[in-house]
Amino acid sequence: MANLVQLILPSIELDLKEIAHTFSKFACNAHTICDPELRPLGTGLFPAISIINHSCVPNAVLLFEGRTAYVRALQPLSSNTEVSISYIETAATTLKRHNDLKQYFFTCTCPRCIKDSEEDALLEGYRCKDQKCDGFLLPDSGKKAYTCQKCSISRDEEEVKKVSSEILLLSDKASSFLSSGNNSEAGSVYKTIEQLEQKHYHSFSTTLLHTRETLLKVYF
Ligand SMILES: [Zn+2]
Ligand SMILES: [Zn+2]
Repeated sequence: MANLVQLILPSIELDLKEIAHTFSKFACNAHTICDPELRPLGTGLFPAISIINHSCVPNAVLLFEGRTAYVRALQPLSSNTEVSISYIETAATTLKRHNDLKQYFFTCTCPRCIKDSEEDALLEGYRCKDQKCDGFLLPDSGKKAYTCQKCSISRDEEEVKKVSSEILLLSDKASSFLSSGNNSEAGSVYKTIEQLEQKHYHSFSTTLLHTRETLLKVYF
């Protein structure tokens, strides 16, 4: 980006390091301005809002009316409570949320992230080993396996993790194609991801739904 600025303004003496520094600060602190249907309209920098920290269980939410940003509480807040908003989509597993937060260069340690919960398994919605069964899987107490709540067949934790990280690697690849404007390559990787996820996740899984939503955006 700094090189691009120099290309556009060759006559001005520029400090590339400083430009890169400023762009990085902007990227970490700016907010996407959305319409009421959450379609992105542009990017805005709101210094007072940029100091609000992230939580995966936020007590406030950021809203826009035109170009004006509002922070609305989601519950009654006492005067000494820290206000938090979520920088990312919260309907996602801990692994997915931490991956989405990488761009902000911190690891979230909010109450939801440090809790070793069944919520992840439900949100993840791993599919039963028996592809004809539509039961949900939950981790066993020792967490060495995930067991179907309908037919009691288990999937080994290592196998589940292996497929999940394979999907995560492909997702990183697809999103970098997407951000460089290469929609056809991105689309073909997302299709591979969808096929893998259909075998790995329950049809109600949020991960599978997110992939299908992205595929729709890529092709329409
Ligand atoms: Zn968190
Ligand atoms: Zn089952």
